[in-house]
Amino acid sequence: MKSVLIQGATGSIGSSALSVLAEQRGEFRVTGLAARSRQNELLDLARIWKPKSLALNDAHDETALRRESESLGVDSVFIGEDAALRQAAGTEYDVLLNAMVGGAGIAATLSALDRGKSVALANKETLVAAGDLVMESAKRNNAQLLPIDSEHSAILQCLAGESWSGIRTLWLTTSGGPFWGRRQSELHDVTPEQALKHPTWVMGAKITIDSATLFNKGLEVIEACKLFGVDPAAVKVIRHRESVIHSMVEFTDGSFKAQLSNPDMRLPILYALSHPNRVVSGLVASSPSDWSALHFDEVSFQDFPCLRLAYDALDRGGTIPCAMSAADEVAVQAFLEKRISFTAIPEIIENTMNTVTNRSADSLENILLSDAEARQAAHSLCRTHEIVAGDLKCS
Ligand code: NDP
Ligand code: MG
Repeated sequence: MKSVLIQGATGSIGSSALSVLAEQRGEFRVTGLAARSRQNELLDLARIWKPKSLALNDAHDETALRRESESLGVDSVFIGEDAALRQAAGTEYDVLLNAMVGGAGIAATLSALDRGKSVALANKETLVAAGDLVMESAKRNNAQLLPIDSEHSAILQCLAGESWSGIRTLWLTTSGGPFWGRRQSELHDVTPEQALKHPTWVMGAKITIDSATLFNKGLEVIEACKLFGVDPAAVKVIRHRESVIHSMVEFTDGSFKAQLSNPDMRLPILYALSHPNRVVSGLVASSPSDWSALHFDEVSFQDFPCLRLAYDALDRGGTIPCAMSAADEVAVQAFLEKRISFTAIPEIIENTMNTVTNRSADSLENILLSDAEARQAAHSLCRTHEIVAGDLKCS
């Protein structure tokens, strides 16, 4: 039986993962849970899953958390800014399922891989900011790194039994998000409420806004390059309206393979946990007769500048992808708080990328330094883009 540490347990992926584990109780047990600040939700999960460790960044009542944890038989409780890292580094588990948001997931992933543990990774920002370090650590420690992102899971499934040298193009599919068909110039006034309405997926707030700007797809382009060792030119994005094809591989002989199912994150989570095997599951049912037609459209960089920025960041290399990702976190938060407009997001990211120092991305130290520098730059750019009485101060 594999033991699983779930970090980001109270989130969208975290709860999908727990529903997968509830179905597969004979195969897996939960050995640890972590969240950022939702103490009561974390304790509710601990009552169900009886983990050996808990981690929480911001405990609103530390004494109560420790007392409750003790009564539930939890051996270790980690509290504070680096709680997830200390839990990943200091507890026993077979698989770390990393479902935290943003750069917060980098250190815990690296720590797990350095210990030779398997990592099931939803936290794509880790691969964007520290992809080379992460891949190198997985290789050096003979540790498995399995993607949960549905596109990358689809590609991995398409590549099963194939030689990676046979790859011509990895085709990442996107639903196009809620603003497909509208120009950038028409999006100035969109509200967080409108941007949070994704046509296909129900997800956490940050990735939902990233899906509306297509920044999420940009992150996934970088994630694909790092995971599968291909050049940026070999990764293409195509809009696929129905979200039934989760991605495709085009091979050098001209043949394509695709992975299909109704959209449901429990399937890629299950694959990451059971890989390379298939288990029996009734969680996701799909019927091809429901897929009457599958449509595809080209994606324009002009309409989705965030996608262009990801290719730019890949081109510039070093810590620029890390800075880009950190700037997006800051800009998305400012948009959600209605401090900046939707269209200011790409401007702030691009300006941050042009402001920060590009360092070599070969140490965690440099990555954390660049992450902090980019956040600072992006915060100050957000102030210059602040919305005043329904309009923009300047741009
Ligand atoms: P949610 O916002 O729903 O959940 C985030 C989880 O991470 C929560 O448990 C939250 O704790 C915790 N968390 C947030 N910030 C920190 C931090 N600084 N330190 C420690 N824990 C933290 O996000 P999602 O589940 O939607 O996304 C998680 C990751 O998976 C992201 O990287 C996303 O891009 C990726 N992903 C998500 C998909 C989806 O369908 N949702 C699909 C593919 C990838 P708390 O509740 O206490 O705030
Ligand atoms: Mg995805």
